[in-house]
Amino acid sequence: MHHDDSPPAPRPRRRPASALALAVSAAAVLACASACGAPSGPADGAPPGTRPAPGPSAPSAAGSAPAGAAPLAGRTVVIDPGHNPGNFAHTREINRPVDIGTNRKECDTTGTSTNSGYTEAAFTLDVSHRLRTLLRELGATVVLTHDADRPYGPCIDERARLGNAARADAVVSVHADGSAAGNRGFHVILPAAVKGGTADTAPIVGPSRSLGVNVAREFARATGSAPANYVGGGTGLDVREDLGGLNLSTVPKVFVECGNMRDPKDVALLTDAAWRQKAAQGIAAGVRTYLRG
Ligand SMILES: [Zn+2]
Repeated sequence: MHHDDSPPAPRPRRRPASALALAVSAAAVLACASACGAPSGPADGAPPGTRPAPGPSAPSAAGSAPAGAAPLAGRTVVIDPGHNPGNFAHTREINRPVDIGTNRKECDTTGTSTNSGYTEAAFTLDVSHRLRTLLRELGATVVLTHDADRPYGPCIDERARLGNAARADAVVSVHADGSAAGNRGFHVILPAAVKGGTADTAPIVGPSRSLGVNVAREFARATGSAPANYVGGGTGLDVREDLGGLNLSTVPKVFVECGNMRDPKDVALLTDAAWRQKAAQGIAAGVRTYLRG
């Protein structure tokens, strides 16, 4: 499920850490109340707005790459695998509220899972690894916000901070949704214009939309999946103002909800490794097109 994507919903009730199965199903209903994206303050020391926001038509580093160089040489892409497989065992820690500028939200969430127990956290890590390989092949420097190499998290504010500190040219947060069965398809979440506390997305709204439009188009092309039939009006795009990971970002960033883990037909795709490779290829193509203009 999405991280935060359910509108500011009531706080998920925490389950005992040992009740994994219960937590999974509870999480599925909750829809990532806060996890996914939280922003954090500008960790790179550059106040929001002071960095030129790369746009599709602003090939900064790429423009200076020597002819024949890998297409994304000199560019940095941060991949944010939504949630963390360890979150289920650290409910107290991930429930701790963090400041997202405009509000406070839980540090992170468990994410959703399929009925058979394939977790969103496992899915996002797999797609993120595939995506990392593809982007490196294109010459990009790739940073993951985590690689299941920590007990839980990072918190949503830290996830945003990591992209900011890397001075990423683009950040993609990978997720799968936890919506009702019958709701199918993918969508890309774009940051709304928000300002509050350390959050100010004005500089990234435009470039993030360009990034998202490219990712949505290439994702559809690579996977054959249709835009979500339950959000975004068939465009495959949604705009959110409640995700810390977007609100606190000072660099272009989008979330990709690859499909719905609660719909049997989408599950058949999400659990198929060959399809996940196509999903990664679509995201990589979108990032490449965005960065190359
Ligand atoms: Zn999620």
